[in-house]
Amino acid sequence: MSYLDSLNDVQRQAVEQTDGPVMIIAGAGSGKTRVLTYRIAHLIQKGVEPFNILSLTFTNKAAKEMQHRIQAVCGSEARNVMMGTFHSVFSRILRVESQKIGFPSNFTIYDTEDSKSLLRTILKEQNLDDKVYKPNTVFNRISAAKNRLISYKEYIANPNYMADDRAALRPEMGKLYQMYQERLIRAGAMDFDDLLFYTYKLFNEHPDVLNKYQHKFKYIMVDEFQDTNIAQYNITKKLAAMNRNICVVGDDAQSIYAFRGADIQNILNFEKDYPELKVLKLEQNYRSTKTIVEAANNVITKNKAQLKKDVWTSNESGEKIHVYRAASDNEEGRIIAQTIFENKMNMQLRNKDFAILYRTNSQSRSFEEALRKLNINYKVVGGMSFYQRKEIKDVLAYLRFVLNDQDEQSFRRIVNFPKRGIGDTTIAKLFVIADEQGTTVWDILCNVKSIMTGRLVPVIEGFVDLIKSYKILANTKDAFEAANEIAKQSGLLKELYEDKTVEGIARYENVQELLNGIKEFVDRPDQEDKSLGSYLQEISLLTDTEKDKEDKDSVTLMTIHSAKGLEFNQVFVVGIEEDLFPSAMMLNSRADLEEERRLFYVAITRAEKRLTLSFATSRYRFGQLKSCSPSRFLEEIDPRHLQMTSITANSIGSQESGPAFSGIKPKTAAATVQVKAKVAPAYTPSEDFKPSDTSNLMIGMKVEHPKFGYGEVKNIQSNGTDRKAVIDFKNLGEKTLILSFAKLRIH
Ligand code: ATP
Ligand code: MG
Repeated sequence: MSYLDSLNDVQRQAVEQTDGPVMIIAGAGSGKTRVLTYRIAHLIQKGVEPFNILSLTFTNKAAKEMQHRIQAVCGSEARNVMMGTFHSVFSRILRVESQKIGFPSNFTIYDTEDSKSLLRTILKEQNLDDKVYKPNTVFNRISAAKNRLISYKEYIANPNYMADDRAALRPEMGKLYQMYQERLIRAGAMDFDDLLFYTYKLFNEHPDVLNKYQHKFKYIMVDEFQDTNIAQYNITKKLAAMNRNICVVGDDAQSIYAFRGADIQNILNFEKDYPELKVLKLEQNYRSTKTIVEAANNVITKNKAQLKKDVWTSNESGEKIHVYRAASDNEEGRIIAQTIFENKMNMQLRNKDFAILYRTNSQSRSFEEALRKLNINYKVVGGMSFYQRKEIKDVLAYLRFVLNDQDEQSFRRIVNFPKRGIGDTTIAKLFVIADEQGTTVWDILCNVKSIMTGRLVPVIEGFVDLIKSYKILANTKDAFEAANEIAKQSGLLKELYEDKTVEGIARYENVQELLNGIKEFVDRPDQEDKSLGSYLQEISLLTDTEKDKEDKDSVTLMTIHSAKGLEFNQVFVVGIEEDLFPSAMMLNSRADLEEERRLFYVAITRAEKRLTLSFATSRYRFGQLKSCSPSRFLEEIDPRHLQMTSITANSIGSQESGPAFSGIKPKTAAATVQVKAKVAPAYTPSEDFKPSDTSNLMIGMKVEHPKFGYGEVKNIQSNGTDRKAVIDFKNLGEKTLILSFAKLRIH
């Protein structure tokens, strides 16, 4: 069996140990997924029926890839293995069994948007304020309950939940959960979380059904085990209870979905639930160069909460990790696109050997633009292309309609968004009248009094006045000022700002990022026509060149969250700046910081041969050019693994200077100095170092930091609970420190 020869001893042991519970918790790139794949192949080779094997993966794409590999060993038989994500596998089971729990077999699956729109309807019927009961918040709360297997009955009966909701001024939450659930049932629909919740219920209430699937799935495999939630864990446990042939693989250091209810506790529970458990350790990394593996180790050891692991590799040391410092986010985009362009040529690589990974979706814009300009194919994974996102389209629809009031599609998007009470029936009626009169809807709106009376007249007149005032803005201001005002005055920004869920924050950031892009457009020294019209034209041309590039050889752009389990020859982890990564929005506790650090660990361990980390020293955020400081994560990597390169706008830029972009390779004098300063700061902390209380820290105070040495406070910034100090350190220059983390002694 030749595939066994491509495994090391422990991997082989894991593959051959087919019976009984097995757990492998091991570092990135150590072959966990490969072990699962070959384990399935091995089972089939040993004569186990493919129908008796269940393999649960993080994405369906990962499942496909696995299947492909198994087919290479076992042939088409492999198709009969049940494989996919928890959601897809359980939805297949529910299709067969749903009648037993009161659902039709052709039940509908509601996606998140459907769910939220149902919640909106219920809120309206109940006369509940959707500013207090934000559909997103309500949805997330219900989702969290379901992922913990808590039914609405249990929810309502739980005094703690009820107290929480009262404290959050949402006492009706339990009732909403109940109504939402009843409406789903009435509609014969399940939301995503129901696919888990009802599978558990099915197995719990119907031992005969459970028994059937226990017999069917004699062997169970779970990849990315660290990110399973309570519902997933408990269903798997039930399925495995009879044969106890379950193999889970994962890496606690890569647990990055706590905010979605993933529970790392599952790893610890697994040992308790299966006392006969065989635990195997994989320590050799096959994916990355020594430099990358060591850097990843440097980073992850900073986390307190982790299981001990030694990861090493016999791969070559490889290149140092490149650190690019760019003057702005747009320059960061240009530098990286240009580097990809050059490395492709020089190293004979394809587009798909490159990935650009970022913390939040909104960062994709500058890279998309820069790659387009160099004609490099790319695909944005796990999210739509920036300009296709709903919130971006909504803003652009306003801008388009202001410039062209015949644009019906844009009109339909904005007339009742944010909500003004102009319903679908009214809109349809307006279109009919416009047709009859041989004119545009806008004309009709402008003379609304001549076609109707009543409550809607002032509403429509208000809308018309708004658009007219925007038209004036568009004619008198530059594109940024106009767009910024329109986004604010229309209520769009406010609506997004008030939504504090993870998705809501991302949408708000996306709109800010669009505005940043417009600001960058008007600030361009060579941009003569700074009008909104000129901007929209540029954007339309960009979007028009976008084609479906699914099958093409493309550079991958994605968030780190969606990069889990993947590997690329060259990886660019971008936006390594304080506030962005670690994300200021997410940073409320040490546990949050550790989750951000695990995310950083996931990011850097995706790289095989060459890793580049980049940061910008300034970035448009919230429509303003802000200066940024490099992320603390950069300092956690041993400086001898890093090669710092400072690039100014002049050393790259236009396409003419493109191929001569080797400015990046020779280390500039400035860069060398910076690295040196990092390697040997001439400061040793005093032994009796004790941090002071920083609540009275003031500009001008002299301070000492255990790592950065002596410095002086230059500025203090405070937004809400988050206080930061800009400190000029003697050895290092200015740094911005978050005071809740910074250990400082005041002198
Ligand atoms: P992650 O934690 O990122 O999911 P992993 O532990 O699942 O990583 P794999 O993706 O299975 O790691 O393996 C990483 C790379 O190393 C893959 O390209 C895989 O084919 C290769 N690899 C694993 N084991 C071996 C081996 N024994 N010999 C050669 N290559 C190997
Ligand atoms: Mg893997």
